[in-house]
Amino acid sequence: MQFSQIIEQHDLINSLIRIYDNRRVSHAQLFFGEESSKCFALALAYAQFLNCTNKKRFNPQDNKLIIADSCGECPSCKKFSILSHPDLNFVFPNTTTKKIESKNSSELLLNEFREFVLKKNGLIRLNDWYDFLDVGNKQGTINVRDSNNIIKRLSVKSYEAQYKIMIVWCVDKLHYEAAPKLLKILEEPYDDTIFLLITDDRENILPTILSRTQLVKVPKIKQEIEQENKYLILFVQWLRCCFFYKTKIGEVVSIIEKDIVKLGREEQKQFLEFALDVFQNSFAIKMGLNKNYYLLENCDEKFKNNFPSFITENNIEKIYKELDKAILHIERNGNAKMIFLDLSIQLGFLLMIK
Ligand SMILES: [Zn+2]
Repeated sequence: MQFSQIIEQHDLINSLIRIYDNRRVSHAQLFFGEESSKCFALALAYAQFLNCTNKKRFNPQDNKLIIADSCGECPSCKKFSILSHPDLNFVFPNTTTKKIESKNSSELLLNEFREFVLKKNGLIRLNDWYDFLDVGNKQGTINVRDSNNIIKRLSVKSYEAQYKIMIVWCVDKLHYEAAPKLLKILEEPYDDTIFLLITDDRENILPTILSRTQLVKVPKIKQEIEQENKYLILFVQWLRCCFFYKTKIGEVVSIIEKDIVKLGREEQKQFLEFALDVFQNSFAIKMGLNKNYYLLENCDEKFKNNFPSFITENNIEKIYKELDKAILHIERNGNAKMIFLDLSIQLGFLLMIK
């Protein structure tokens, strides 16, 4: 992955390049933003850049927004692009699967992870990863075996690259038993090893890890903010009708026909993923796990204050299931009108079970 493949973020990319140029690359960096998918792609492009043996530099007349990039062609870049470089290591949340029934670890799922990242062009989300592994509702962690493997992998000298890279995706999923070993290695790093830790949930990261890493905040880009505002308006309008589907079914149908169907499949999926995030965020607020209303921030106060109270431990799981099912059916080219009508009724019904 090259910097040029990442949408916008050129200010951040340029600051990472300048840090490299000034030889101030920190051995442990925490990339965080509201969506870890973008942080992951950025970390991957950064890792490729650090090890590229023929970095490209751009002049103002090149009309590029970035000042440098990896070449994409040297042996190192070629291996990075298919994620097969021996000095590129990954650790990520994992669980038992049909194939790996016990002693699961990132190492045992590495082939699956590479395939998943390549399929998604580096833009990976945790729910999609679990779907890819087909593990149902099981949630993964970064476990003690992962911590041991990190030490094992890093204690050998780098094979061929300047930097040995350890990308830890969703470091907020680090199991508490696995934390001490990771902390120790962050405290006493090996030479030429760079940890790129990634999270979209900085609040759930151990303070001891935060204090040992350089923070790299990945901001939202304009296009995403516009898209989110569009989805938020539609979400509030749609949900308000879902609540009263018994008397307002005509309005539900009208929103689906006028506003949702015309989005097209890809955006319908994005809208449903956005809805899933809103439900997750609202449930976390309701349970006191999070105080940040970041997704509902721009909607009217009444909705913002009331909505979380309808989401409880009695309905949240079923709501996730319904949304996941709808996403799957949209992906499989089901009839959008029918999928959203069914979903609206299910959500309306579930939100009444407090
Ligand atoms: Zn290169």
